[in-house]
Amino acid sequence: MPEDSAASTMPTPYIGDINPSWNPDFFGQTPDLAPTPSAGDTSVHTQETTKQSINGSDYRRFLLSGQAPKALYIEELYRELDVAELKNRTSTLLQCRSSAYFYQHRESGEIRVGASSCGLRWCPLCSRSKASTITANVREWLKVQKNPRFLTLTLKHNDEPLADQIDRIYTHFKNLRRHPWFRSKVQGGIWFFQIVKSKKTGCWHPHIHCLVVGTYVDQKKLSERWEIITHDSPIVDIRKVGDVQKAAEYVARYAATPCNIAKLAKADALELMQAMNGRRSCGTWGAAKVCKLSKKPEFDADAWECIGSFWEIYNYRESCEVYNDVFCHWQEGKPLEYRLKSGQDPGATENLIPEEEPETFKQTQQVLQW
Ligand SMILES: [Zn+2]
Repeated sequence: MPEDSAASTMPTPYIGDINPSWNPDFFGQTPDLAPTPSAGDTSVHTQETTKQSINGSDYRRFLLSGQAPKALYIEELYRELDVAELKNRTSTLLQCRSSAYFYQHRESGEIRVGASSCGLRWCPLCSRSKASTITANVREWLKVQKNPRFLTLTLKHNDEPLADQIDRIYTHFKNLRRHPWFRSKVQGGIWFFQIVKSKKTGCWHPHIHCLVVGTYVDQKKLSERWEIITHDSPIVDIRKVGDVQKAAEYVARYAATPCNIAKLAKADALELMQAMNGRRSCGTWGAAKVCKLSKKPEFDADAWECIGSFWEIYNYRESCEVYNDVFCHWQEGKPLEYRLKSGQDPGATENLIPEEEPETFKQTQQVLQW
């Protein structure tokens, strides 16, 4: 399902969604938890935005601390798109990570945060989470493949509307996959869409990157076939994947979103968001269908106990030694040596519980008791 169409409902919170070890960039600095700006505040994508604070829950603001310009720019883009399309994705975006709770593993003592997510394609937090998941799944798949190859297909530059160019490359790519010669060489693969805007020519450059499996593919023949299909574009690249880890890291660059939207001018960013709406930006075919790109790592929900809301533990950690322990152990990725026991919630967290509570979130009505 295209992500943006799934964004109107809050997906199930997932324990371990974002951990300190997952992206050290988040934790090398003091979180900026300045007061939330009023609703009338608008942001500008300039250096000045580094002084502005991020909207949303404490957890969202904590995760995005140090990235205010990007986060505010994306918020601004969604706000403009909502006005144009009479939608309300901005509030969905700002709700991302609004329900956030600390959990402790009943045996190991490990501390994690479980949080709700918005699922919007351009959300900086959801796209990182998605990239992390896809990369892990691709790495596992790659490990057991014989002679995987990295294939890149491009279109000749032109100044057609972006949506038309994306339609073209997707259609040509589908035709290539169906061609008997290509099918005799390639059993299947994983594809990622990527787009860049050239500052020099002002043109969009759409690409399809694929990890493919099968027999040897001659680059010259592939180039000829791609030119016949596209009528004008002979540029292709195919090479062996030498190092699985490097290939997975390479994939991670494309897995999250087709483009670093924060680097685009506003008109270009809005054109890209509209052109990508409802489209997939990655997928699998043939023998690679066994690789489920969005599959989350399995975890045993019963093994984790909710020990309090992020809001409470974060905000009271300086006056509560145990809260500080929880927070520091989570940041450092270390198990907490002692077990925390849950009890009845006096009401501090009830407003944060999602309407449809998954099993683990029923425990959020409980609070720490020592
Ligand atoms: Zn999100």
